[in-house]
Amino acid sequence: MGVTVWQAREAGAPLERAERPMLEPARDELLLQVLHCGLCHSDLSMLDNHWGMSAYPLVPGHEVVGRVVRVGDGVDPGLVGQLRGLGWISGSCMHCPQCLGGTGNLCGSLEATIVGRQGGFASHVTARQDWTIPLPEGMDPAVAGPLFCGGITVFAPLVDEAVSPTSRVAVIGIGGLGHMALQFARAWGCEVTALTTNLGKAEEARRFGAHHVELLEALPDFAGRFDLVINTVNHSLDWSAVMASLAPLGRLHQLGAVLEPISVAAFDLIASRRSITGSPTSSPASLLKMVEFCRRHDIRPQVERLPMDRVNEAIERLRLGDVRYRFVLDSVAD
Ligand SMILES: [Zn+2]
Ligand SMILES: [Zn+2]
Repeated sequence: MGVTVWQAREAGAPLERAERPMLEPARDELLLQVLHCGLCHSDLSMLDNHWGMSAYPLVPGHEVVGRVVRVGDGVDPGLVGQLRGLGWISGSCMHCPQCLGGTGNLCGSLEATIVGRQGGFASHVTARQDWTIPLPEGMDPAVAGPLFCGGITVFAPLVDEAVSPTSRVAVIGIGGLGHMALQFARAWGCEVTALTTNLGKAEEARRFGAHHVELLEALPDFAGRFDLVINTVNHSLDWSAVMASLAPLGRLHQLGAVLEPISVAAFDLIASRRSITGSPTSSPASLLKMVEFCRRHDIRPQVERLPMDRVNEAIERLRLGDVRYRFVLDSVAD
């Protein structure tokens, strides 16, 4: 038996089903049988080679939920049968200051699940055991996949920066990331404002936990209001209005991969000691905290599910922004 993959032959090409030899888990790795895999915007960026690091044929997919079916040397065989989640990072060196210090997502020799490796739109995938996270009891595996990239991306600015529950938090964009950010910030105890260009999403945003839903263009009305602005959109904004909306010591946390520079006036930073930060997913420790926090507060991605052999339909609809709020592809029996 081999591995069934859905792969793109070249940049922008649709995915085609193909068979490859079965993967062998290397030392410290385990082999997951893929049950479900979410579709993230980064899959599109990699398919289109927007970041110049794609290798073809490319198998995308990095929001995996799978069952451990085999383990490599150095891994407890007792893990076989466990359900685990895998996100953007599939391995790190585990002995540099970052890995040892608990910020392994900042390791200088990271392995990314879909960069030079075969990703999760497949029947099987391998990853280092440390970067696969056991699903807690009671978590629905069919919707959990998006937590392991989109979810941790928006949980990180709360858990890794020790945000106070008394904070006023704004989330810009109610999409794949934003709809999870609203749930996390609400459960964290914060006062939560959703900022959107589409008030048609207002009712759902409130259901996700927003106390307030406002039009993004009304941001200049909220001068000095927010302790933390989590920006999930990947295009340029009125940055001076964003900075002006921050309270003293307030922070803009940038998650959307906007390609143009973020231009900010020096006095927007100086006068009230405001700052701008960003982050790439997070560490295994924060992933473990995230799934436990989700279990405790019943936080779950809102997903639309399709069988894996309809992955191209999901890709085309994601390109059009036609999803509420994340696609999950379900593995199909041979
Ligand atoms: Zn992703
Ligand atoms: Zn390292």
